[in-house]
Amino acid sequence: MDISYILNILGEDREEYYGAIAPPVIQSSNFAFPTVASLRGAFERETQAHLYTRGNNPTVEILRKKLAALAGAEDALVLGSGAAAMATAVIASVKAGDHIICVRKPYSWTEKLCRVILKRFGVETTFVDGLTTESYTEAVRDNTKLLILESPNTFTFELQDLRALASSARQRGITTIIDNTYSTPIGQRCINMGIDLEIHSASKYLNGHSDVIAGVIIGSHERIGAIYRSEFMNLGAIISPHDAWLMLRGLRTLPIRMRQIGETTEAVVAFLKGHPAVRSVLYAWDPDSPQIALARQQMTWSGGLFSIHLATDDISRIEKFCEALQYFKMAVSWGGHESLIMPACAFYPESYDGVRTYPPDLVRLYIGLESAEVLISDLKQALTCVV
Ligand SMILES: *Cc1c(COP(=O)(O)O)cnc(C)c1O
Repeated sequence: MDISYILNILGEDREEYYGAIAPPVIQSSNFAFPTVASLRGAFERETQAHLYTRGNNPTVEILRKKLAALAGAEDALVLGSGAAAMATAVIASVKAGDHIICVRKPYSWTEKLCRVILKRFGVETTFVDGLTTESYTEAVRDNTKLLILESPNTFTFELQDLRALASSARQRGITTIIDNTYSTPIGQRCINMGIDLEIHSASKYLNGHSDVIAGVIIGSHERIGAIYRSEFMNLGAIISPHDAWLMLRGLRTLPIRMRQIGETTEAVVAFLKGHPAVRSVLYAWDPDSPQIALARQQMTWSGGLFSIHLATDDISRIEKFCEALQYFKMAVSWGGHESLIMPACAFYPESYDGVRTYPPDLVRLYIGLESAEVLISDLKQALTCVV
């Protein structure tokens, strides 16, 4: 389906609301029926009917249709956060006694869900190095029910071979879930590659304006219907109609934001790669990356997120660099209009001397919608603090 059609027309019944270009926020918890027969009919078609906003809401429904179509899938659910989307989809896919295989270093709350919460309910998880498909097949057990992928992850950007893993999991009857937040539904076509469920934190690119927390689960009618009728309604982690409306507004400009961010990121990465204060750049789309061929095979967009190793281990210099930046804000998250920086040294107490998953010279950058010239000159002046 054409992206312009999806973003501008699909799902919008403008004659139902006075021809308004922007859809209304249907801020109602509840919907009334004139006859018993129509109420009965709504119960029968509960995944599509407008009955109660914990299930479906007309403003949210426009978003569901657009997100499913963007991913080339049949259906989508929108939730109150990306973490809720992942937890809802994972809990719907396992029961006590099952085994999960998850990529190593996934999003921190995905790891906690598996390592801590599901363990309490008798579900075990093996974390594997995602670089080879064999690392997964070797971890498969008779009770393996779910494979959780995140390609690339969002701090060191290792990729997994999605086509190979989806087909090998399918042959064994194992469900596949991917966190595709890094790439967006149009930057990496996971459903087309055979993945069963695609998760997004819509708080990032999909909303794109740093003013909404939301999440998405995308998949077939069958899988989404099953999740809707059980975990989605039971956990009840829905998005509000107002946040859905803000997200619809953000989504209209997704392709132009992506194009701009991609162009600027390439210019900034090229600048940093040649700079003496930068030891190396970790970027999924770097022509010198060991996984560049795989990136080109399965991703159609490079993204605005990457990390650098600074050419110093002196934490006070690294702190000075971060604090000297004017345009890059120091913050968690990413995917909005504003460029960001996230130093790994902030993850540990000041006097920490234990094992670090992420070394202190590692700094993550996110490129927003500012111009490449402004961002490069900001980095140039701040990098003088490093060496
Ligand atoms: C932010 C993020 C999440 C969690 O999303 P929230 O909307 O913050 O709950 C999950 N996965 C990735 C890769 C993220 O970046």
